[in-house]
Amino acid sequence: MAARVTILGATGSIGRSTLDVISENPDLFTVEAVVAGKDAAGLASIARKFGAKFAAIMDKGRGDALADALAGSGIAYGAGRTAVLEAVARETDIVVSAITGSAGLEPTFAALRPGVTIALANKESLVCAGDAVIRRAAEVGATIVPLDSEHNSLHQALANYPMSDVAKMTLTASGGPFRTWDAARIASATREQALAHPNWSMGQKITIDSASWMNKGLEVIEASYLFGLRPDQVDVLVHPQSIIHGLVAFRDGSVSAGMACPDMRVAVAHCLGRGQRLVAPPSRHLDLAKIATLTFEAPDFARFPCLRLAMNALVEGRAAPCILNAANEIAVAAFLDGRLRFAGIAALVEDTLSALSPRYDHPARDVQDALEIDHVARAHAAGLLSNSHPAVT
Ligand code: NAD
Ligand code: MG
Repeated sequence: MAARVTILGATGSIGRSTLDVISENPDLFTVEAVVAGKDAAGLASIARKFGAKFAAIMDKGRGDALADALAGSGIAYGAGRTAVLEAVARETDIVVSAITGSAGLEPTFAALRPGVTIALANKESLVCAGDAVIRRAAEVGATIVPLDSEHNSLHQALANYPMSDVAKMTLTASGGPFRTWDAARIASATREQALAHPNWSMGQKITIDSASWMNKGLEVIEASYLFGLRPDQVDVLVHPQSIIHGLVAFRDGSVSAGMACPDMRVAVAHCLGRGQRLVAPPSRHLDLAKIATLTFEAPDFARFPCLRLAMNALVEGRAAPCILNAANEIAVAAFLDGRLRFAGIAALVEDTLSALSPRYDHPARDVQDALEIDHVARAHAAGLLSNSHPAVT
């Protein structure tokens, strides 16, 4: 029987990669439900094309547009938070969690049910509430398979070895568009420059995070929760070709590398396959002779302070990762709107962290707790912005 797939963030970059893999394997998968933020027309056309049973749009104001676009299709639909949770609650086999930001936390948490496989791209949900999410998955018997390429590679490279055999895990980073730029040039980089990622085509938020290296910082935190690693067991290696995505160093000195073309459909196919290997077209197979050279560099924390801020937040623990993530979401949105300089992203995150982190003596106990911390941190960061934070201009 075909596996049922529910896609949270169906209209986005990961959502579309997922739909590509489903199109390539029409006998193996059916689409149960699809969720998006605002794009009613895009969501309806996906629901129609893939014969989804249910479509939910988060933005209530787009409910009528979704209704119009689905008229006559027989596809059930809804708008707003309860509709999104209704989509998640439908019986399914696989949930692809690919909403951007902490907005993905509540639906991802709701997807953790017995026997369900969660293909987790929404790293922010682990950064905000990693303890609660991992604990809940174990309690209910849900399986989380990492869809983020580095973590997916690490998961595959680890194979069936116990974590007690692992000395260290390394996430590679492409270095993004500013890898070779000096600090002054990075500080005043424009929106267009930051959105021009050399290797990956992704949504805007993660593309800015890749330019600032906050993405790698969030991924270090993500890896620590996913694999149960201490902060000193996760590190970062710059690898501009993005062919090796993760390295597992075992205690006997052996190192396994997870490799693939820089195409998210490879990780998607691994997640959807749930232990079975799907067939990919030749363009997605790696040709190392053609690539010829793989290079590596140590990360530069001075030019990319966001990576250090995130790694420090992991060491600090308590609510620091959740505050870091919330402040970063506000900062990235402000940068994209032209309200903050590129250098202001790290400055706003740092100032929000130092103001709020000491107030919390524990990490989020549950989703509600995480959402409250997220809310407070967003409000604080937004307040700093409107009070003409020194990094604004
Ligand atoms: P994107 O911006 O292309 O798509 C985001 C999706 O989420 C869209 O479908 C959008 O409609 C939906 N959405 C946004 N806000 C929502 C809300 N409040 N409620 C419901 N739906 C909402 O983003 P993306 O690049 O596909 O990234 C999605 C997630 O996957 C992020 O957490 C990102 O870090 C992670 N990720 C992405 C990539 C990649 O290659 N794009 C790789 C690894 C991890
Ligand atoms: Mg990644």
